[in-house]
Amino acid sequence: MSEFLKIENLNVTFGKETVIENLNLSIPENAITVFLGPSGSGKTTVLRSISGLNRNAQGKILLDGKDISELPVNKRNIGVIFQSYALFPNMSVFDNVAYGLKAQRIGKAEIKQSVEDMLKLVNMNEKANSFPDDLSGGQKQRVAIARSMIMKPKLLLLDEPLSALDAKIRVELREQIKEYQQKLGITMIFVTHDQAEAMAIADNVVVISDGKIQQQGAPWDIYTKPSNEFMATFIGDHN
Ligand code: ADP
Repeated sequence: MSEFLKIENLNVTFGKETVIENLNLSIPENAITVFLGPSGSGKTTVLRSISGLNRNAQGKILLDGKDISELPVNKRNIGVIFQSYALFPNMSVFDNVAYGLKAQRIGKAEIKQSVEDMLKLVNMNEKANSFPDDLSGGQKQRVAIARSMIMKPKLLLLDEPLSALDAKIRVELREQIKEYQQKLGITMIFVTHDQAEAMAIADNVVVISDGKIQQQGAPWDIYTKPSNEFMATFIGDHN
């Protein structure tokens, strides 16, 4: 349970630069784990290593007991959400969300029902026939999240998903993401450099700096019991 995702001896080098050295990490199922750390600390690199997008990654990644290290991106059963939404611009909201299901052998009526249910969950059912260009940033991101969640991934990775949005929408959407997580029981990893955001959304926080894990724990413990000097300074600095 507490080792739903397990990373063993992850090493990542780009040219001569070692960005991640012997990183070991376990994260729990059915919870939101936040990777928190300054820009350039290696958060995205670890995320891309988990999803298979990083070809420079060496080490073992176990998801729900299965070694996925050698599997291609599309066989890992992992969804990825980016800051930039990455919706298909020439497809309607409905078709964006239906896209992954259409590649599977699922009947039309069943797809329609699943997409409608998912659009209701993210409160985009009234925009089913709109196109991405007609949506606000927050709406686009909710469609992107719906498109991933409908595939029932074992793990959903969100890389700074709220960074392009303004403050009010950011707060709304982080609450909504928490609600989706709880309703669907999806295990999520959420990357951010924003401490307030991390504390608000996380069940479990992993603080990364300089490619190393500085501390892992519940938000309140991270906040009140910094485990080393870096943590004390980091937590103090960002308020
Ligand atoms: P974060 O997500 O915490 O901002 P990143 O994982 O993006 O940090 O980057 C960590 C370090 O790895 C940085 O020094 C960055 O320059 C370097 N890096 C990341 N991706 C590449 C790449 N494709 N090629 C070379 N260096 C990279």
